Amino acid sequence: MHKILNDFINFIFPLNCAICGGRVKGKDIICNKCFGKIHFVGKKRCKICGTTIKSGNICKGCRKDLPFFDFVIGCGNYVPPLSGILRLYKYYNRPSLSGRLARLLYSLYSSRGDLKKIKVVTWVPMRAVELRERGYNQSRLLAEQFASYASLKSVSLLKKVRNIPSQTKLSYKKRLYNVVGAYKVDEKTIRDLNDDLNEGIILVDDVITTASTMNECAKVLKKIGISKVFGMVLAISP
Ligand SMILES: [Zn+2]
Ligand SMILES: [Zn+2]
Repeated sequence: MHKILNDFINFIFPLNCAICGGRVKGKDIICNKCFGKIHFVGKKRCKICGTTIKSGNICKGCRKDLPFFDFVIGCGNYVPPLSGILRLYKYYNRPSLSGRLARLLYSLYSSRGDLKKIKVVTWVPMRAVELRERGYNQSRLLAEQFASYASLKSVSLLKKVRNIPSQTKLSYKKRLYNVVGAYKVDEKTIRDLNDDLNEGIILVDDVITTASTMNECAKVLKKIGISKVFGMVLAISP
């Protein structure tokens, strides 16, 4: 009985870091060392979509077909320990990691002068059925906590109206097509925001691989008249 109780307490308040097994402070799930090792995007990346490039500033894809978002920036590459932290956060029911992760977004935001005029933050939505399964939208938690650190408004603007078949095995082109029509905008909320959207909006997601989801969300936001959409994510695929 004691063992079950202990396991239960350790599950809720683990004494060891879930990533490296080292000691953690209080109720932390992941140690400071692991957070410190998050690899900030160091390689040369496209200034618009964040993909790695060998030379120049803009990748071939963006030069050929400019995305709807103005640019997307990330805190780090999707490699350990960040990839492991994000998997725990998203798939292993650890919504409490959102505070710490939102801090990372906030430091990224603070390092940029070009986002300072923006007043509104929103997130990539999930379908109701997905939300019921997971119990929380990881991007929404991130966006809301980041917005409170940055003293910005966080608003629910997008709705996911169609299921997107798994993207992982699709080619880049197929991924773009795969998400078309999956998102809708809440027009009334947009109207209520009035001038708050004049400088554009920050769109938060946890991780991007091809940016196709972010692009589709940006497309519907721009269609409704929002002039600028800036993506902020924790991780970008290397
Ligand atoms: Zn650790
Ligand atoms: Zn690009």
